[in-house]
Amino acid sequence: MKDYFWYCCSILFRYFPLRYPPGIVALGHPDKNSLVLISGNYFLTVFKLKRILKNLNCYILVVDSAGVNVWCAAGAGDFNENKVVDAIFTYKLDELVSHRRVILPQLAAVGVDLQILRQRSGFNGEWGPASFYDLPEYLAQDKRSISERMHILRMPFFDRMELAIGMVGTYFLSYLKYYIIFALFLGMQYNHDVFLITIAYTITILLTPFLDFLPFKWATNNLMVISIPSYFFLWWYVESYPAFIHMLPIYLLANSVFTILICMDILGSTIHFKSSVANWLCTFNNKSYFGPKLVSERCTKCHACQNICPKGIIGEEDNGYPSFQLELECCECLACVKQCQALAILNINAPKFKGDIKSIPQEQLAQVMGEKYY
Ligand code: SF4
Ligand code: SF4
Repeated sequence: MKDYFWYCCSILFRYFPLRYPPGIVALGHPDKNSLVLISGNYFLTVFKLKRILKNLNCYILVVDSAGVNVWCAAGAGDFNENKVVDAIFTYKLDELVSHRRVILPQLAAVGVDLQILRQRSGFNGEWGPASFYDLPEYLAQDKRSISERMHILRMPFFDRMELAIGMVGTYFLSYLKYYIIFALFLGMQYNHDVFLITIAYTITILLTPFLDFLPFKWATNNLMVISIPSYFFLWWYVESYPAFIHMLPIYLLANSVFTILICMDILGSTIHFKSSVANWLCTFNNKSYFGPKLVSERCTKCHACQNICPKGIIGEEDNGYPSFQLELECCECLACVKQCQALAILNINAPKFKGDIKSIPQEQLAQVMGEKYY
């Protein structure tokens, strides 16, 4: 029950880090030969992992990722090989199991260098699937291998709905201060207006999980479509309470501003869309800043980049070199750059970048992105 309470809290307020205590979690009856899976200490991830793996005998090594999910934490430098090595030694993994293998989430490839992990801890890391829903199928194989489908990050409808509820919870909390300020200084009339706009805005957010079912390609168009019910709600409200009819233009304007804000937020922060708010504002499109280009003289054809691309856009040429297809779909995670030990991937687009990838050394980024990146 306690876990379910925190599960609800972590969904409603998912933008506030809710930490799971770092350490070893034993599932079933693991022994010295049992598998070890690595996870960050984002409460929601560990909660779901425990449910997905409940029929297995294995260990989860929960590594301190500042209470943030592995993908974001890895990009921000909060989940890296040093954190994993620290956890391995702190929780005495070498005494718990007799083998020297750990399975890491593929999304951690943005921040974890497997070679350094092996050198410092003696443990060999292997990438698991991009979505943890594929873990049971992946672990059930005698010879574990990641299929093409497992490389690609999937976000089922239920997960998207969780994200939407998290946005609503967070925005409601942030509106609280406006309610208090308005109530104290301007009177309750303004609170009524803010509350009404909040409801309209909430309707739009809760419809965002349906975006994937809409036919348009451009996210902003889709968001404008899903905001239509909120306009109807405002219209219905002033029809029912004519005393507020004079406020309708302001309600509609405020609702439009909020919808545009959601467009920009969602464009920059979810896996469905490609680029940053800054890019959207500057170019009014959501093309990726990262246009990967291969320097074939340096490439060793190791396929490390191909094996960790969560968008599945890195294929293979007939001659064995990786090919970057559909670069417009790139989500700028830079996992391919992080994993390329040969520094063989360059950026052919403008030397601008979202700037929130801190897991790659500045010198390496400058080489990949061009000197102007500094
Ligand atoms: S090609 Fe794009 S999406 Fe794929 S790993 Fe590289 S940066 Fe990430
Ligand atoms: S990771 Fe680097 S060296 Fe390996 S295949 Fe990709 S580009 Fe080539």
